Amino acid sequence: MEIEKVGVIGAGQMGNGIAHVMALAGYDVMMTDISQDALDKAVALIGKNLDRQVSREKIAQADRDAAMSRISTTLTLTDLGQTDLVIEAATERETVKDQIFKELLPALKPDTILTSNTSSISITRLASRTDRPEKFMGFHFMNPVPVMKLVELIRGIATDEPTYKACLNVVERLGKTAASAEDFPAFIVNRILVPMINEAVYTLYEGVGNVRSIDEAMKLGANHPMGPLELADFIGLDTCLAIMNVLHDGLADTKYRPCPLLTKYVEAGWLGRKTGRGFYDYRGETPVPTR
Ligand code: NAD
Repeated sequence: MEIEKVGVIGAGQMGNGIAHVMALAGYDVMMTDISQDALDKAVALIGKNLDRQVSREKIAQADRDAAMSRISTTLTLTDLGQTDLVIEAATERETVKDQIFKELLPALKPDTILTSNTSSISITRLASRTDRPEKFMGFHFMNPVPVMKLVELIRGIATDEPTYKACLNVVERLGKTAASAEDFPAFIVNRILVPMINEAVYTLYEGVGNVRSIDEAMKLGANHPMGPLELADFIGLDTCLAIMNVLHDGLADTKYRPCPLLTKYVEAGWLGRKTGRGFYDYRGETPVPTR
């Protein structure tokens, strides 16, 4: 199955990165969103990020220009009907994704592969509500998409082999590496990473260490490039809590219970970098631990 035209739904943090790497790899990309402002901002950001790659001599100016010329945008979801592969990267809410698929499906070619970039919603459940569960997969990029090498490819219970192979070919053409995962809560990376972060918050909660000692310990003692609390602030504490809840609910094991201190930070609105405060306070010149 030859994939040439790719549809990207949602022009947010992930959608713009996905459009960026797809266009750079030579795919024609059509990106849609419910907000014209989001589409305009995404195109501007892709241009800026490609410029940075040119200035660092990672790509040539001609590659940048060709990539930009391959990206088109539309507010009309059904304009994606003629694409060969659709990657849905809209807001992480199941009702939003269901509504998108319901509206798109009647316009979609019968052999188009439909995928979702969801971090936590069951691929099998999303697929079951479409007309093509065998052509449905999880296509899970990491943030920031142009930088991170991994894509998790998640098979739903019905996903067929040609669909998996076609997606694998796309990942390889992007110059990225695929990890194949089964459809269980949080897949591979978040299943391992987020409980580690939650354990770091327990270590803080129980007074075993403070913010600085926990992060230093994991950077110097386990060779992690960022400490777990610094990383939690980067991901967003609300996202970390949501993933712990998905694991706790989906696997029904108390080992996934979210740390009460993580819940408290989220209740305070201290969500990390994006709100200026989390385990560190980012409002001054340098980040200062909040505990
Ligand atoms: P975001 O909030 O930055 O962007 C979501 C975009 O979807 C917004 O521009 C919004 O206007 C748009 N949208 C909402 N409803 C829509 C609709 N009906 N049709 C078209 N567009 C619509 O979110 P994000 O961080 O880019 O996350 C998108 C998806 O990627 C989620 O499923 C999330 O789980 C997944 N994901 C996120 C990350 C991350 O680190 N942020 C990592 C991997 C996967």
